[in-house]
Amino acid sequence: MSIAFRLTSAQAGPVAPRTGVLSTPHGEVRTPVFMPVGTLANVKTLLPEEVAATGAEILLVNAYHLYLRPGHELIAQLGGVHRFMDWHAPILSDSGGFQVFSLSNLRKVTEDGVRFRSHIDGSEHHYTPELAIAVQQALGVDVAMPLDHVVEGTAPERKAREAAERTLRWYERCRAAAGGRAVFAIVQGGVHAELRRWHARALAELDAPGYSIGGLSVGESKPEMWAMTEVVTAELPIAKPRYLMGVGSPEDLVNGVARGVDMFDCVLPTRLGRNGSLFTDHGRVNIRNARFRELATAIDPACDCLACARFSGAYLHHLFRNDELLGYRLATIHNVRYLVRLAERMREAIAAGTFADFAAEYLAGYRATDERVRQEQKARYVARTR
Ligand SMILES: [Zn+2]
Repeated sequence: MSIAFRLTSAQAGPVAPRTGVLSTPHGEVRTPVFMPVGTLANVKTLLPEEVAATGAEILLVNAYHLYLRPGHELIAQLGGVHRFMDWHAPILSDSGGFQVFSLSNLRKVTEDGVRFRSHIDGSEHHYTPELAIAVQQALGVDVAMPLDHVVEGTAPERKAREAAERTLRWYERCRAAAGGRAVFAIVQGGVHAELRRWHARALAELDAPGYSIGGLSVGESKPEMWAMTEVVTAELPIAKPRYLMGVGSPEDLVNGVARGVDMFDCVLPTRLGRNGSLFTDHGRVNIRNARFRELATAIDPACDCLACARFSGAYLHHLFRNDELLGYRLATIHNVRYLVRLAERMREAIAAGTFADFAAEYLAGYRATDERVRQEQKARYVARTR
């Protein structure tokens, strides 16, 4: 089982917005795409049909979490992760490199792999590139990620280089273990442009089925993140999909697509949704805010999600004020639909040749509101402290 990618827009160069179609064993995915995160084989609070109704064409699950609990072998025994979670469209899995390396006090890295203690029960594990692939094969996902050595965004050059070199060696081991199944390569290199460039070139030579940009959005500044993204996409083969891992606020999606990125994932829409924070074209709004108490229209009249089509802002406000579980579900549906639709709008703009205008207008609207919200907060703070 393998994947294929074809570009469906004329390509102006490696660092330019583009549309494409990723074909996988469980169906096709139109790019640019936002992938909702279902870390533990569910998009928190939603049924698979509710996720599908947002227009999502591919989900992300986390191999590390499913390896620890309930165990990849059990999921394989139960028919694979698609059947386990009753989602029959494409699934991409993260290998868990990021999670393992987040356990800074609980792990030890060697050339062979990583020894770590489970964050659940303290049990000891030895996670290797081969095991990361075996776990993802047992899950039966459409696109797998290799085990990579992740360092913090502020890591010095020497440390970032050591990790990038190891990631390259580990990728070759992952490919050998995968036996023809699709495993993307992950470009690392911290915030060091030369290192990023070298790593992207070295991996490009290996002709991977797709390329992930890892180790960003981990503590570096936004200008650094976009500078590194550009350095990397400039070196990657044009005809292969590019995936910017763990990145997915509305502004980040637009900025990433502008730099030739095709795929995004982020826990933001679901996590923020459960906190009552909702995306709109005019920035994020908090539904608990008193200004929504009497709002008779949808929270985002431009949105076609189930929550906006059927319920008023006042109703959502009421649910959140009372901690009603339906509020979390509706807010999650809205936020996921918002990002899926943002990707749709960008695909349309790219096809129409108007992406640059779309991006400028969108980012100006989003920023202007952020500024307005900051001013409002400041005014309230000043009023309170007087
Ligand atoms: Zn909505």
